[in-house]
Amino acid sequence: MTSHSPHLGILGGGQLAQMLALAALPLGVRVTVLEPDILAPARLCATHLHAPYTDAAGLDALAGCDAVTLEFENVPVEVLTALEGRVPVRPERALLERSKHRAHEKEALQEAGARTAPFVVIETEANLDGALERVGRQGILKTSELGYDGKGQSRVSDAAGLQSAWDELGRVPCVLEGLVQFEREVSLAVARGPDGALAFGPLIENVHRNGILRTSLFLEGDPHEAQAREIAGQVAGAWGLEGLMTLEFFGLPEGELLVNEVAPRVHNSGHLTQDGGGVSQFDAQVRAVLGLPLADWRPLHPCAMVNIIGAEGKTPDWAGIDALPGTRLHLYHKAWRAGRKLGHVNLVTADEQTLRARLSQLETLIP
Ligand code: ADP
Ligand code: MG
Repeated sequence: MTSHSPHLGILGGGQLAQMLALAALPLGVRVTVLEPDILAPARLCATHLHAPYTDAAGLDALAGCDAVTLEFENVPVEVLTALEGRVPVRPERALLERSKHRAHEKEALQEAGARTAPFVVIETEANLDGALERVGRQGILKTSELGYDGKGQSRVSDAAGLQSAWDELGRVPCVLEGLVQFEREVSLAVARGPDGALAFGPLIENVHRNGILRTSLFLEGDPHEAQAREIAGQVAGAWGLEGLMTLEFFGLPEGELLVNEVAPRVHNSGHLTQDGGGVSQFDAQVRAVLGLPLADWRPLHPCAMVNIIGAEGKTPDWAGIDALPGTRLHLYHKAWRAGRKLGHVNLVTADEQTLRARLSQLETLIP
């Protein structure tokens, strides 16, 4: 692309960093990750600065990159402050602070004109009073910070249940959301270059199991795509995005989309873009962060993804997965643990009917 080989720094070295690095290399981009876990997945395909996120020498090394991005939004604020003015961090601090705090995120989404589920911020005992009535009769109490894969969440349907759920979550700042009777869940990623140009990923349909993503599906011509793109573009502009972020939506029976949450990075639902034939979400984040040319990215074929999640006493039928035409395995080099994301299988076919049939088969092969 250029005579200079760009150097990308990544905060975090998990599977998303692994896949960002795998996408960066053929674009002529070198990758360095700052990651405290010595066994982090990305260590095998990037230079691994094995140190705490706050390590001064580690941060000096990242400051020498052309740009820094992240695969993990819970990096301490002082890390972002330490890098400020030395190297572009994309997305930047204000956006990250917003997206890692559920209450701030929802407020900022509404300010940008996007709709969310009804919610009440719970920070003191007094906030519990009448909270459930304000969001509807059923709700989900979620910690404002550090929740992922359905962790730090509790369903509540009466005042006593709300009180005990808050006690169990350690009385930390929370958000009580109304339980949304959605028809489907979808997601869409948006990228914005340093010049302000927007590009979009495909509309993806998602199915969760126990609060963790199980299956994602891409089919051309999704009726929610135009609305999702409009909302994503509006939020990206209002928040001054540089880099890539992914919006999760609830699709209501009347067709309207509510924004559930925003990840300031590539997203598990976008993994199917690795094998759909087009540019992947990982290419897109690398390009957006470094200011390289980027257009909308989308699969060229119908495709799907099933997550491999550690389950007690069960393993995937590896031979069966290999024998199913159109599958491609992606493993994260992580130690096995129940409930942990260990890898995923992408599935590509020529037509929708075959995709649906093979996806049903694939789901029986992965516990
Ligand atoms: P996480 O950060 O763990 O992904 P989410 O807020 O996305 O947390 O919640 C995980 C899943 O739980 C969602 O994808 C959805 O299936 C369900 N869920 C979360 N919030 C609501 C809600 N307000 N109403 C109905 N379902 C919800
Ligand atoms: Mg989510």
